[in-house]
Amino acid sequence: MVINLSEQYSLLNDWVAEMRDVEIQADRMRFRRNLERIGEVAALEISKRLPSTTREIQTPLGTSPCIVLQEQPVLATILRAGLPLHQGLLNYFDKADNAFISAYRKHNRDGSFEISLDYISCPDIENRVVIVSDPMLATGSSLVKTIHYLREEGRPSHIHVVVAIACTVGIEYVQREEPHATIWCGAIDEELTAKGYIVPGLGDAGDLAYGTKVQM
Ligand code: URA
Repeated sequence: MVINLSEQYSLLNDWVAEMRDVEIQADRMRFRRNLERIGEVAALEISKRLPSTTREIQTPLGTSPCIVLQEQPVLATILRAGLPLHQGLLNYFDKADNAFISAYRKHNRDGSFEISLDYISCPDIENRVVIVSDPMLATGSSLVKTIHYLREEGRPSHIHVVVAIACTVGIEYVQREEPHATIWCGAIDEELTAKGYIVPGLGDAGDLAYGTKVQM
């Protein structure tokens, strides 16, 4: 299932517009904060679909039957670009466990690239809801590799994928490889360049959040 969070107007559309805007992009703090805010909205929307339970809460004046989250999810993200989106999810799922995976595009001389994964830090994910975040769903290969990598650690009860901008090809690839996952998108674009960039997209999310890197 794919949910486009900007299909119906909300403030989230303004944050996506700011992230795309070349002039506003010079403000890295705003770029990171907008990613974080998308993570926060996604967390709230996802929480509506998670199992809840009723607990009797003692107040100073009596007891109140409160509906609360039944079990904490695991938040997983891909270093480095995923960090602000992950932080937004963690701001709301503030008791969640966390997994971090390093994935990067290893470029060949001819301009092609492979996704290289080389680090994972992961809690127990067996039978738990896992929320994987990555700002840009382009080809989908780093996201799918990450999910496969996580699946070697355990069998999640459900996987939610949270991205700021997705392109159609990437969504289709994730749906083929992970048909039961729920994909939450801040926006959906149609085009993907040969170099794996989303058009109109916003550019390199990791560089915009943290500064340009030396190409590996
Ligand atoms: N990663 C990015 O940061 N931007 C894209 O357009 C695609 C992948």
